[in-house]
Formats: sequence, structure tokens, C-alpha cells
Amino acid sequence: ATPAATMVGTSIGASEGVLFKGGDVLERVQDADTVVFDKTGTLTKGEMTLTDAVALGPAPDGGAVLEGEAEDAETRLLRLAATVENGSEHPIGEAVVAGARERGVTVGDATGFENVSGRGVRAFVDDAEVRVGKPEFVAETGADADAAAETVERLQSEGKTAMLVAADGELVGALAVADEVKETSAEAVAALQERGVAVHMLTGDNERTARAVAERVGIPAENVRAEVLPDEKADAVESIQADGSRAMMVGDGVNDAPALAAAFVGVAIGSGTDVAIEAADVTLMRSDPLDVVKAVRVSAGTLSKIK
Ligand code: ADP
Ligand code: MG
Repeated sequence: ATPAATMVGTSIGASEGVLFKGGDVLERVQDADTVVFDKTGTLTKGEMTLTDAVALGPAPDGGAVLEGEAEDAETRLLRLAATVENGSEHPIGEAVVAGARERGVTVGDATGFENVSGRGVRAFVDDAEVRVGKPEFVAETGADADAAAETVERLQSEGKTAMLVAADGELVGALAVADEVKETSAEAVAALQERGVAVHMLTGDNERTARAVAERVGIPAENVRAEVLPDEKADAVESIQADGSRAMMVGDGVNDAPALAAAFVGVAIGSGTDVAIEAADVTLMRSDPLDVVKAVRVSAGTLSKIK
């Protein structure tokens, strides 16, 4: 493109909330033949809601006693989980804390909070090491994840993200959070596919939940990579590009920055974190997946300024 055309494209983009970091980026977008979407916060709203709390494992031996009344098993499950998650900034952690409060549970104080990226969180509550997260992560402490397997499978097949909770190696229960697919995700996927662009999805979430979401937005099951740890996302993008594909990676999180950098074009979407925006070639001001289509159309010169 001529410098003038590049300037026009960049300014049309800007007026539509699509920020290209320079003219060469505008050209690269046109050469991309693949779009890889992160799931959470990109195709889904990233606003999770606590949907299930299932107490499992041995009966609690009393717990915090309020006016002589023993804490029930579900309250204990929610209190332990929310007390740990109170230290987390992940949408899952926020959902667990809000959900517990809505159910009238008092969130306590934890010490030694630790976020184990892509797996879960842990902290000490009442001197017990409490973990909340993926079944494998919680089972590492010796907790009986098999006792929760049926519950976890049921929750996942409902498209929910299931987590286990354990205290000092004893299973306490299972929790599930759900996230809604954005209204325009399916339309964006279809529009890209119509242009001949292959659409993929990457997620740290489990296979069953990932497939349920992919099906809802029209991404073929063979283009879904699930259970990708945050530090594996860049490798996953590289493996998609290994056959010579030129991928636009679209993500919003801190976790996504290396993957954005590894892609042929990195796209930070909406309320994205500063880290993601910095790593990106294109920033979408809104959180709308249709703006990915807009970026492609501006780059191809098929979007003109009609005001
Ligand atoms: P995504 O790729 O969907 O953005 P992440 O890599 O952030 O997901 O997290 C992957 C998985 O790790 C989650 O689906 C969840 O099972 C677990 N996880 C991450 N953070 C937390 C948390 N704060 N509490 C419980 N589980 C968590
Ligand atoms: Mg994410």
C-alpha cells in the first residue's frame, strides 16, 4: 500500500476503535490467514458467576461454631474457598468471593496466599492449607479427587468450569463457575470463516468446557486446544503456525502477552491488561470480537469511512 493508503487505513481504524501500531502492522493483518482466539474474556464475557457448591468428603467436625451451632458443610466449603480466593484477581476468584457473599457466607482472612498460574490458588485458613483449583492441582495434596469425579464431569458437560476445594489434603467439595459467550462471538467467527480465515481457540480451561464453548461459537473441535498452561500459550501459537499459517492471536489477559508476541499479529482486546496491550500489534478499544473482523476489513481496504 502507498503511505497515503496506509494513513487512511490507520485513521479509519482509529475512528472505529481499532488501533494499529504502525503501517507495517496494517499490511500484516491482510496477510494473516488464521485467527486464534483466547476463550476467557475474548469469546466469553469473562464475567463468571458461581453456579454450584457441592460439599463432598468427610463431614466437618464442627468448624467455626456460631452461637453453639455447627457450620454446615456447604457454608464451610464456601467460606474456605472464598477466603482463599479473596487474594485472587482472576475472574474465577472474584466469582467465588461474590457468590459466597451472596449466599450469606462471611469471608475470612487467609495468610500466605499464592496464585499458581493456570491451575488454582492456595493459602492458609485457620492453620490449614486450603487449595482451590483444577482437580489435579488439588489432588496433589492427597485429597481424594476420585470421590468428586462424577460431580466434576457433570459440571463440565454443562459447559461450566469445575474446581475442587481441599483443606490439609482432605476433600471439602466442588465448585463451578460459568461464563457467558459474548453476543457477537458466533457472528465474528462466521464472518472470518466466510473470508477464508481459519478460526482456532486456545484456553487453559478443560477439554469438555472448551468444546462446549467452541460448539456454541462455531469453531470446529479440531481447532480447539484446551488445558494450555499460560506459559504454553506462545508454544501453542507457534505450533499452529508451524505449517506456515500466519496467525492473528486475540487475547486480553496478562497470561496472553507471550502468545500475542509469538503470533504473526498480536491483538489485544478491550479491557485488556496493560501487559497485553504492550505486547500487541493491534489494540481493539472495545471488547467486541466483531472488531477483529473490522481490523481485517480495514487492512484489506474494504472498510471505508461512512459517516
Ligand atoms: P483461560 O485460558 O481460560 O484464561 P487461565 O489460564 O487463567 O484460563 O486458567 C486456567 C484454569 O486454571 C481455570 O480454568 C481454572 O481451572 C484454574 N484457575 C485459574 N485461576 C484460578 C483461581 N483463581 N481459582 C481457581 N482455579 C483457577
Ligand atoms: Mg484468559
